[in-house]
Amino acid sequence: MSRTVYVNGEFVAEEQAKISIFDRGFLFADGVYEVTSVLNGKLIDNDAHLVRLHRSLDELDMPAPLSDQEITQVQQKLLELNQIDEGMVYLQITRGAADRDFGFPENPQPSLVLFTQKKTLRESPKAETGLKVILTPDLRWARRDIKTVGLLAPCMAKSQAVRQGADDAWFVEDGYITEGSSNNAFIVKKEGDETVIVTRQLGCEILHGITRRSVMGFAKSAGFKVEERPFSAEEAKQADEAFLTSATTFVLPVVQIDDTPVGDGKPGPVARQLREFYIKEAMALTG
Ligand code: PMP
Repeated sequence: MSRTVYVNGEFVAEEQAKISIFDRGFLFADGVYEVTSVLNGKLIDNDAHLVRLHRSLDELDMPAPLSDQEITQVQQKLLELNQIDEGMVYLQITRGAADRDFGFPENPQPSLVLFTQKKTLRESPKAETGLKVILTPDLRWARRDIKTVGLLAPCMAKSQAVRQGADDAWFVEDGYITEGSSNNAFIVKKEGDETVIVTRQLGCEILHGITRRSVMGFAKSAGFKVEERPFSAEEAKQADEAFLTSATTFVLPVVQIDDTPVGDGKPGPVARQLREFYIKEAMALTG
């Protein structure tokens, strides 16, 4: 059955949805996006996603076509119309259509598109088996903190991973892991009695993941030490555990990096605990 999607003020069947070929999102990847997960028909962490959306828009000097309240109403209406109990809602804002010119147009009419996707999130076979990731050079631009639709480098990296029989790719820059193709990267180290969780510090080199922040909070409340610093590919391969986070995968264990098993090569207890904690808290919010 065809989905109902939202395009510039209208709810239409996906086959009827239209965007100009002069849209700057299409011509220049001049647009930003957000993905919010849905559990029990409710948006998870949506306020934080909207805060990040505004940050992306502000960094690119792009106006927001609707208020946050209006955006949330559209998101909720789409969930209802498409009967989404579990899955995600995708939102994209571009600078809109204008004659093709590299300079930003003066009074842009931004385009706003939203669509839903049904997806099983809580039950994931990969949570049981773990993921294999390959390491690949970070070919992305220097403002990865802006969530733009310019995603060709991550698409290339993910496709390379799949071609090599892996699940995903983690990017490496100057010997250090920045993040995954569409997720934040973490390693876990046992140091004496302490469990230390390491993830790259915030900056222009990574996307400031909403799930990353929640999971770091849960990790601290569970008594783990959290270090935000660069970690090398070598340090990751020697870690006791590794995992990744994103809005649609929550927390997933990483059991192999290139040809090296991480720890004993099985999903570890810390990733499992953090995944359970995240899902429990997210479900509690859905009331
Ligand atoms: N890094 C990158 C490059 C991503 O594309 C994503 C997911 N969009 C993330 C991290 C995770 O962010 P979030 O937890 O907000 O989904």
